[in-house]
Amino acid sequence: MEEYHYNLKLASRIANQLSIISPRNSNYENLKKIDVAKNIFKNYGNIGGLDHPIQKMIITNFLDLRLSYYYVRFSKMPNVYYYFIENNSFKIMVKKYDNDYFIGIFSGVFYIIQDLIFKVNSNTVDSKLSITNFRNNISFDQKDESNLFKNNNALFHENIPLFQVIFQTIFTHELCHIIRGHLDLKENEKLSRSELQTLEMDADSFSVNYFFIFNIEHQIINKETSFLKLSKKNIETLENYLFYTYIFLRFQNLNKFEINKTPNLRHPPTIIRLKFIIDNILSILELKVLEKEKLLHFASNNIPQIIKKAEETYLKITYDSEKLINFIELFDSKEFDEYKIKIFSNWNKLRDKLVNYSISDLPEKNNF
Ligand SMILES: [Zn+2]
Repeated sequence: MEEYHYNLKLASRIANQLSIISPRNSNYENLKKIDVAKNIFKNYGNIGGLDHPIQKMIITNFLDLRLSYYYVRFSKMPNVYYYFIENNSFKIMVKKYDNDYFIGIFSGVFYIIQDLIFKVNSNTVDSKLSITNFRNNISFDQKDESNLFKNNNALFHENIPLFQVIFQTIFTHELCHIIRGHLDLKENEKLSRSELQTLEMDADSFSVNYFFIFNIEHQIINKETSFLKLSKKNIETLENYLFYTYIFLRFQNLNKFEINKTPNLRHPPTIIRLKFIIDNILSILELKVLEKEKLLHFASNNIPQIIKKAEETYLKITYDSEKLINFIELFDSKEFDEYKIKIFSNWNKLRDKLVNYSISDLPEKNNF
């Protein structure tokens, strides 16, 4: 949905330097606002959360770096503070207070990502994820910490880049709700469920685009044409991204698409989110990649293979006893087009309102 911004290498470099000196998101600023944050999140848990100081520092530095980037990229960016909250649910939320935005990252997010990377890479046959309340509210089972990275620093360090990509994806989705004015629009106007789904898709799309900017694009090889060479490393990064995105979405019921169920949902059906994310990746690649053959190969071979592998892994590391889902069959729905048209027409209407709140460019209206 979003136009791909690619001329950002300089900003990124500046952001890298700024992260050392930027006062806007330093720990000092965060401390000043901590009483506000405590109050905002009091119903969910105490501020604090992560108990391993080195791991907390690594992830905090990384998120500071990302935030600095957006401060440079969007000059009108409001103050954004983020806090870890002692709560084992897999949840991240944004609240507004006095024109500042507060992101609460539940410690469950951190632990579940760790646990997932750990179990995916484990050779033990029977290593299931330490999660409870499956399906409704995913929550980390604190009782079972035996396999967490805190007992295995080497494995943690080996997987830091992957850990950061996953974290960044979730964080950027929330930032989009701030940057593109979704939160302010919701504050001022009652939106239908279908419109809320449209905003969620915009946030997914924003997150996919910045995944590219941060992880693939800086590897542009042919500077003159600024086309990407889909190197082995690019492909690996993309596959990892899809693999983990699939598993996270799979936690939330992956069913065949039924349009008559969609009007009641706050979030788009999982299958649609996944389909949009894949379409989004392919459209960026189509725009950026010179080698059409490689692109075609990626779409018709790598993607189905990686989805299949993710599905098999998912069944291996959870107690979910359903049979293997055939993703391609799930996609095969005529109702999908009907839904897509609805989302597109929602976007065209919402876009006119979002221009009043968004601090970034918005994706153009759709013709259909
Ligand atoms: Zn969202």
